[in-house]
This record gives sequence, C-alpha cells and structure tokens, in this order.
Amino acid sequence: MKIETDMNDITEHPHDGKPRPYLCTVCDKRFGTKKHLKQHEQTHNVDKLYSCTQCEKRFATQRNLSQHSNVHSKSISMAVFVLLLYFYTVMVIEEKNEI
Ligand SMILES: [Zn+2]
Ligand SMILES: [Zn+2]
Repeated sequence: MKIETDMNDITEHPHDGKPRPYLCTVCDKRFGTKKHLKQHEQTHNVDKLYSCTQCEKRFATQRNLSQHSNVHSKSISMAVFVLLLYFYTVMVIEEKNEI
C-alpha cells in the first residue's frame, strides 16, 4: 500500500466551519471523521518517544507530552482538594462529638 498524498488532510482550510472532533496527537491536525484520522495517523511513521507515565498515551514531542500531562495534574490537584475537604469534614464531626 502506498500513500502518495494526504488526500484526507482537510485541515488546509481551517476556517470553513466544519466540525473536526478527531485530533491527531502527533501533529495536532483535526479531522472530521475517525476514518480520516486513522488514515492520517498512518502517515506518521515516527516512533512516539514520549510516553505518559500515568496512562497509555504516547507522544512524538516533549511539548505534546507536557500539554497532555496537564490533564493528569489537574485531576491530581482536584483529588487532593477532595481529600482535604474530607479530612476537614471528619475533624468538624469529631469536634462536635467530643462536646
Ligand atoms: Zn498528524
Ligand atoms: Zn496520560
């Protein structure tokens, strides 16, 4: 199988208003259908060197990985917040019980 040109690369006209929910994690191009994204991804014959330590995703550049890791750091800080709220609630309940 030979891919001569990226015929499905419709990102050359980014302002035509068509929705493109499928994002290539390698080059940040967007595609309107999953099929087009899959075909496009096959044009990247690069080893994805940067893998996320917290999930299975891999990235071609350090920048892409660090952008992605924001997703995890946000959820971690949210978990810490919930945990603190839990301990605070427990402390308040314990104080009330002592009286
Ligand atoms: Zn791509
Ligand atoms: Zn991840």
